[in-house]
Amino acid sequence: MMMAKMPTVKQVQQHIQQLVNQDKQDKKQVNDFYDQALTIIKNSLSAFFVQYAGKTGLDYNTLAQQANSWDKQQFETAINIMMTGIQPTDDLNKRLMAARFQSQIKHRDALQAIVVATVSIATEKTQNYGNQTAVNQYKKEYAHVTKQPNVSVPKSITKNDDFNSKVWVNNDIIVHRTNQTIDKAVRKTVDKSLLRDLVKPNHDKVLQNNIDSASQPGISFNKSAVVESSVNSTNSARSDAFSASKTTEYVSWQTDKDDKVCDICQSYDGAVYEVDDPNKPIPGVDSHPNCRCIYVASDSDGNLLEAY
Ligand SMILES: [Zn+2]
Repeated sequence: MMMAKMPTVKQVQQHIQQLVNQDKQDKKQVNDFYDQALTIIKNSLSAFFVQYAGKTGLDYNTLAQQANSWDKQQFETAINIMMTGIQPTDDLNKRLMAARFQSQIKHRDALQAIVVATVSIATEKTQNYGNQTAVNQYKKEYAHVTKQPNVSVPKSITKNDDFNSKVWVNNDIIVHRTNQTIDKAVRKTVDKSLLRDLVKPNHDKVLQNNIDSASQPGISFNKSAVVESSVNSTNSARSDAFSASKTTEYVSWQTDKDDKVCDICQSYDGAVYEVDDPNKPIPGVDSHPNCRCIYVASDSDGNLLEAY
């Protein structure tokens, strides 16, 4: 008798591990987009300090004076660096236009406008990246389960509405908190030591009066949003692939079986459901955000039927 090429729990585990690694890379990519914006913001703040600081430092009254061509130049340079490699959408153009107007009011507004513009461009890149990831992930996962290379991606995945609105809500949190931190510092006058604190890289501890600390929560939300959209895409692709196969009757919840699996997912591990059971739990929705557990086709005893 020929040995059937049995899919093993091990292969499923490896597959989940690949998804987890992909998520890590995706988060790193989002981080890089925002890092570029934060670097420009910090450099701009330092440049404003050099340009406008008096004896005691960079103070509110000085920054409340009319913006000039130097401020304009700072603003345009910041945008140009950030825009490399992307075509702005109408929505981004509107945001940049509003920022450009703001940059012409006072020095202080010019500084804030640089935050608005650079963070928004980073968010646009995050949005593009997240949408592309969702589509690619759908295609990859669907093709993997069905072994069919031609995949038509449903509208809900290509439109990715939830994700697209979420990234801009988080964008506004990043902008608001960063500007608030800079503004608070300027109101009490930024001397050299405060400037150092503001631009200090913040690796693990949460510092006050610090640009990284202020922006980090919103950036983390957007890292999670990209993964969440990819998880959703993966689960939709698997579910659509099961429906398309017509032979799949049961599915089994699979965790990646390492020591990081949480109690909720652990309790589902190996649980078998009828494939069209409307009440079966959904990974990421009924477990926890960014959960990478998947359903795998199985028999009613939970023997896995996915081919690798
Ligand atoms: Zn899980």
